[in-house]
Amino acid sequence: MTIELNLPIFQKIGAVADALGLECYVVGGYVRDLLLKRPSKDIDVVVVGNGIQMAEEFAKSLGRGARIAVFKSYGTAQVKHKGIEIEFVGARKESYQRESRNPIVECGTLEDDQLRRDFTINAMAVCLNEKRLGELIDPFGGVRHLDLKMIKTPCNPDITFSDDPLRMMRAIRFATQFGFFLEESTFEAITKNKERIKIITKERIILEINKIMESPQPSTGFLLMEKSGLLPFVFPELDKLKGVEKRNGRGHKDNFLHSLKVLDNVALKSDDLWLRWAALLHDIGKPATKEWDEQVGWTFKNHNYVGYKMIPAIFRNLKLPLGEPLKFVQKIVLLHMRPIVLIEDEISDSAVRRLLFDAGDDIDKLMLLCEADITSGNQEKVNLYLNNFKIVRQKLVEVEEKDRIRNFQPPIKGEEIMQLFDLPPGKVVGDLKTQIKDAILDGIIPNEYDAALQLLFKIAEEKGLKAKTDL
Ligand code: ATP
Ligand code: MG
Repeated sequence: MTIELNLPIFQKIGAVADALGLECYVVGGYVRDLLLKRPSKDIDVVVVGNGIQMAEEFAKSLGRGARIAVFKSYGTAQVKHKGIEIEFVGARKESYQRESRNPIVECGTLEDDQLRRDFTINAMAVCLNEKRLGELIDPFGGVRHLDLKMIKTPCNPDITFSDDPLRMMRAIRFATQFGFFLEESTFEAITKNKERIKIITKERIILEINKIMESPQPSTGFLLMEKSGLLPFVFPELDKLKGVEKRNGRGHKDNFLHSLKVLDNVALKSDDLWLRWAALLHDIGKPATKEWDEQVGWTFKNHNYVGYKMIPAIFRNLKLPLGEPLKFVQKIVLLHMRPIVLIEDEISDSAVRRLLFDAGDDIDKLMLLCEADITSGNQEKVNLYLNNFKIVRQKLVEVEEKDRIRNFQPPIKGEEIMQLFDLPPGKVVGDLKTQIKDAILDGIIPNEYDAALQLLFKIAEEKGLKAKTDL
């Protein structure tokens, strides 16, 4: 089979390899993505011989504008040219020892190099030498497996996964990204080797989890982690959401499956990775707050607040970033019950103002999550809720137009209060500020400076505070 290579740079690489008398192939993810017609950024090239020498000659042939970085200890070199990144490596043979996590690496043939790769669809190579340009070398049936939508290891999966347990997460990640299934013995080998995932760093695991999160239907990955038994090792808090308890014939929903459904719903509407994380974690506080009440059945009081409190530790354990993304996910999880409460009570202007104030610019994302959170099987109920949310959205727009609450800053600053009444920083100033903010959010005064100043003097007088006379 011949593959049409889509970039002129491949011919240039082939010409340099021919001049050096070396065999040279593009391999792995790039070939797979080409066949899947997916965009691919990184190009990996295998040279049967010295990969670094090949990269240096190739960079020289490109002249100025090409940049090369050599990683001697790995035997690799990267060439960057016109926004394209090409990684060169000599063909290698890897053998793993029982006692060590790191393989012994020696020079090898192309076939050795293909054998060390994780999946048949990742082990295809296309020749770049002029006489064989585009020739596909596919020793393990990668093309057929792409057609079958199947993830399978080229060698005994038990050994593949035991040698490098990260491959178990990669298998599940590829299945999720592409909508593929795991071949039976490959899946079985994951169930058998699941505990070995413990030797892999969290930093490497989270890269795979985030690729699952960014897939069109992320639930696939979490369901596979659950079914294979990996989930409690990589994400114990999520594992605890599983299951339904019944008492007196009354059950609650399975919060694991519900969270996955909400995640998929959000994924249909938004590519925002952190909103997807908020969806996955929105009910994470439920197991800790579950209680049985004879009157109302199962309750999960304050699960949003408990979830909000749990999230920093979850982010730390998973090695997710602790800055803005953490704050955003916490905020959405904390607020995720607010719009629904708004529907259940009546939708008052002041409640809408408070929601706008607390959510700020994240209000649209919060509303998206709340709509995704309606996972009832009863279509009538779903429509009713969605319709009510439409009313909330409309009300949000009206109130925002009128009162500009979204990024509201109280019109009188603390420093000004301190100056006016000759006060030191502290609780008294804080209380005055809060009272003015509340009056605006409750619609008692408009969001304007003069009205706020007037109110400030009135409250101050009630508290017996005197304004400085020299003002
Ligand atoms: P993507 O770039 O979309 O994450 P990829 O398959 O290109 O997917 P890379 O990490 O870029 O993944 O690796 C390039 C190639 O190297 C893979 O296609 C595979 O052939 C090989 N490879 C990567 N990681 C492993 C591994 N842990 N075990 C065996 N082979 C691997
Ligand atoms: Mg890649």
